[in-house]
Amino acid sequence: MRKLLLILLAGALLFLPFCGKTKSEKIRVIILGFDGADWDFIEPLMARGYLPNFKRLRQQGAWARLRSMKPTLSAVIWTTIATGKTMEKHGIIDWVYVKKHGIKIPYTATERREPAIWEILNEYGKTSAVINWFVTFPPDHIKGIVVSNAMRDYVLSQRKNVLPRDAVYPPRYYPLIKKCMVRNYEEALSEIGIPDYRNLAKEMGADPSRLPILNSFRVFVLMEKFTENVGEMVWERGDYDLFALYFRWPDVITHFTGMFIKDKELVKKALTQIRKEHKLDPEIRKKLDQEDARVLLPVYRWLDGILGRYMKRAEEKGAYLIVLSDHGFDLGPNGYNHELPDWMAPPLGILGIMGPGVKKGYEIKDASVYDIAPTVLYLYNLPMGRDMDGKPLLDAFKFSRKLRYRKYYRRKFVKKHVKELDEKTIKELHSLGYI
Ligand SMILES: [Zn+2]
Repeated sequence: MRKLLLILLAGALLFLPFCGKTKSEKIRVIILGFDGADWDFIEPLMARGYLPNFKRLRQQGAWARLRSMKPTLSAVIWTTIATGKTMEKHGIIDWVYVKKHGIKIPYTATERREPAIWEILNEYGKTSAVINWFVTFPPDHIKGIVVSNAMRDYVLSQRKNVLPRDAVYPPRYYPLIKKCMVRNYEEALSEIGIPDYRNLAKEMGADPSRLPILNSFRVFVLMEKFTENVGEMVWERGDYDLFALYFRWPDVITHFTGMFIKDKELVKKALTQIRKEHKLDPEIRKKLDQEDARVLLPVYRWLDGILGRYMKRAEEKGAYLIVLSDHGFDLGPNGYNHELPDWMAPPLGILGIMGPGVKKGYEIKDASVYDIAPTVLYLYNLPMGRDMDGKPLLDAFKFSRKLRYRKYYRRKFVKKHVKELDEKTIKELHSLGYI
């Protein structure tokens, strides 16, 4: 009897570590996308004691100035981030794929030729929550939830009481998402803690209607708060292998910071120099970054709060947290915009990775937007796409895993949206007499 007990005990001891191991080895990844975020604006703010969570991200994790690509069009780059592939491969090469005869047809997920990481994970039985990611409408039918960017477009279109039911998968989430809609602009503004930049512009004697992006400031406020709310709701309701949440704001606001810089002489000097010499004097650049950072502080402070919240959640779950932008901003001949002349390199974005086995305070030397998808697959210990254009960021981690590769294909699905869109297009072309 005693012998039997001993055998049982030995057996239990032998198996225990394995049980423990499998349990703790559930790998979770949280991705926060901050469109257009740039260390050049974050760093001066951290130096002044702001943005404690960005600071902690850099101290507790590995980070990089993320190389981007041209054109710096968000729809294109976020698809590259999700697929690990060039735009020639994934097929999303602009905002719209028809821009002729007054017809504009935006790219949809149907035109994406390559699988996104959440589709690859789905193939391996893993669940994902994907919220507000560019070009995700119609949503992929995966295990988990996809709140496509069509939701955001709906807020933008200001038809505040209707949401496209098919913009969410599975559709049963529709009523919950509807509840996340924000209607009170003033309230959203004060909750986020940012000024009404339109009023600021007027106070400074400028005309906000001159800049279309500032003109739509109100909808952007509602949209970003809505996105934050959806993130909270989805987080509360499920436990996903991958949780990816995208915010558009730093990109939008950086476009018009120049308008709010008090030192007009500095702006003039910088613009003249960049137009003439195609580069900026480091001193001028530093001053300009500081001025921009001052204008951007409320926006980054809000993102810092969101970052802190998800950082805590990642730590509690032992998850990896990846924070990134698709590109940053450098002053060009026409200010901060996406039309880059040939001599300008795509402005560097941000990357921060935290989690088990990630080097602390380590600057990754060579990271690009192509490397995110392979790195995520590497973290899950899954084969990377053989034809992905990036590499896993191995030097960010203290551990090393075996590198495996295979080819991934996009699961074919022809949904009714495709048919509807085609029919609509044909009808429009017909009505205009082209066919
Ligand atoms: Zn962007």
